[in-house]
Amino acid sequence: MIDNFLIEIKELTMKLYKIQKSDIDKKGRGLYAKKDIKEGTRIVDYVGRIITKKQTEETERFDNAKPIYLFNLNKKYDMDGDVSWNHARLINHSCSNNCDYNGTGLKLWVIAVKNIKKGEEITADYGFGYDVDYKQFPCKCCSRNCCGYIVRAESRWRINKKFSMSKQKSNK
Ligand SMILES: [Zn+2]
Repeated sequence: MIDNFLIEIKELTMKLYKIQKSDIDKKGRGLYAKKDIKEGTRIVDYVGRIITKKQTEETERFDNAKPIYLFNLNKKYDMDGDVSWNHARLINHSCSNNCDYNGTGLKLWVIAVKNIKKGEEITADYGFGYDVDYKQFPCKCCSRNCCGYIVRAESRWRINKKFSMSKQKSNK
């Protein structure tokens, strides 16, 4: 009995992911499923420093590059996830992502939007809008429906007409 109970506790507290060299970002790391993960599972919290919009405006780091680790929480606050203890910052973008960012109040987390097999890389849609700088951020996800750049699903048709919304849905 006690053994079973301990195993259950262990399962509950065990991380669903591990950090390893990424197949998408060849120079970096990524998060990988440590076991099969069901759609809808909360995999990891997205943590960081909660900063005011004013601080965001005043921080040069957010000026030039796309704010990859910056999340809008509400009218007043942003989350700066570029901190070492935020494992979720290592999640790479994919054009056929298996996870999404979710949140409420000042909390953010990453949730599975598909069933994920053990050993698969955990990916999300960075949600970048389409703008003149899109070529600065090539996508190397190699998925069948990769549009070649890190641009949010709704805007990929702007880059390549074949990525219409209907096509995307069928590829999911
Ligand atoms: Zn891609």
